[in-house]
Amino acid sequence: MKKFNIISLGCSKNLVDSEEVKGLLLSGGFKYVEAAEESDILIINTCGFILPAKEESINTILQAIKLKENGQIKSVIVMGCLSQRYREELKKELPEVDAFFGVDEIQDVAKYLLHRDAIPAPRSLMTPGHYAFLKIAEGCNNNCAYCAIPLIRGKQVSLKPDIILKDAENLAKQGVKELIVIAQDTTTYGWDLGKDIRLPKLLRDLDAMNAFPWIRLHYAHPAHFDLELIDVINESKSILPYIDIPIQHIQTDMIRAMKRGKDGEHIRELITKLRAEIPNLSLRTTVMVGFPGETEEAFNELLEFVKETKFDRLGGFTYSQEDGTPAESLGDPIPEGIKQRRLEAIMTAQQEISLEKNQALIGTTQKILIDTYDSLSGDSYGRTFRDSPDIDNRVIIPGELKKGEFVDVEIIDAVDYDLLAELVINIQSL
Ligand code: SF4
Repeated sequence: MKKFNIISLGCSKNLVDSEEVKGLLLSGGFKYVEAAEESDILIINTCGFILPAKEESINTILQAIKLKENGQIKSVIVMGCLSQRYREELKKELPEVDAFFGVDEIQDVAKYLLHRDAIPAPRSLMTPGHYAFLKIAEGCNNNCAYCAIPLIRGKQVSLKPDIILKDAENLAKQGVKELIVIAQDTTTYGWDLGKDIRLPKLLRDLDAMNAFPWIRLHYAHPAHFDLELIDVINESKSILPYIDIPIQHIQTDMIRAMKRGKDGEHIRELITKLRAEIPNLSLRTTVMVGFPGETEEAFNELLEFVKETKFDRLGGFTYSQEDGTPAESLGDPIPEGIKQRRLEAIMTAQQEISLEKNQALIGTTQKILIDTYDSLSGDSYGRTFRDSPDIDNRVIIPGELKKGEFVDVEIIDAVDYDLLAELVINIQSL
């Protein structure tokens, strides 16, 4: 059980905040200890009212850092008024502190620790059992203009690598063969945990477990994509050459209005590089039409880009105005009919691309993972590495095959989003 102590400085309002954090952590299974040096986590609730109070806060933090350096405690968390006013300066001056929180982030202190230090209990899977999602972070710091997730889920809290690896180990023991790595934005994993914890290293560690034949990455934000991931994919045994990189739009004015970071040129260059450097890459994206201010010209640029780029997989949706989001004040000026027409044009273009890509696979042998057998139709359904469950394409094979098995099939026919296949019989095994 993780032990914590809180040093509450300053006024009674601070004390109430400390009590709230204490209560939240106790109900999350942490244990409160009276002496700072007996804790694993030392939380300092600072005061920034007048100079002596600031000095007292800084001295207390420095003493806590000393305890951490001596190995007596494991983490130092700073919250409260001083942290609210001088967070950036403190972060620079005191990198030994694990995390800083302001006065309006009381819930976040507990949430951060509960996620970061929670002991992962083996999960009872609700997926079919041979694949499972591995959540590596909660919340999101991106504030994309249309999105309510940061309001609902709060700021990003990455789980510590040892917690994630333990979760993965538990999943492997349950027979999971395909691990699907998720977060609101997987590419910013670890940014809140310090400079040594990043997605490429985490993926390498997951690959080194040798526990999963397939590891799949979702929600890679194009503005934060770390090019080291190219080497990770190419050098690993199990990280699939499948990247889900939601672009939302390609026209720079729209990307900026959506507050997605960087610009259209960056996305074009990134995709060209990924395709050139990762053999056999399956690229999935998501696009949004009808965001306020999307002119016909901006939309046409997106449509042309979808046609030229020929994403392997694509999901599209129309903008909907959400309460409290940065885009709420822009209204919802594009009529629903126009949004639908634009979405249809994108999806029709993609349908042709998908059919063309599927037809190119006729006559080839593919390794697939069987997801399910439908006793009514008498067919089994599986997926190639190019496809994530539920959102991407399927391979249909007549007859009953065992769920969770990898089999080789020959593709004999193709429709828009599905492939038809026959089991390849291994003559030597007869
Ligand atoms: S769209 Fe995704 S990346 Fe953007 S704020 Fe929402 S959750 Fe974060």
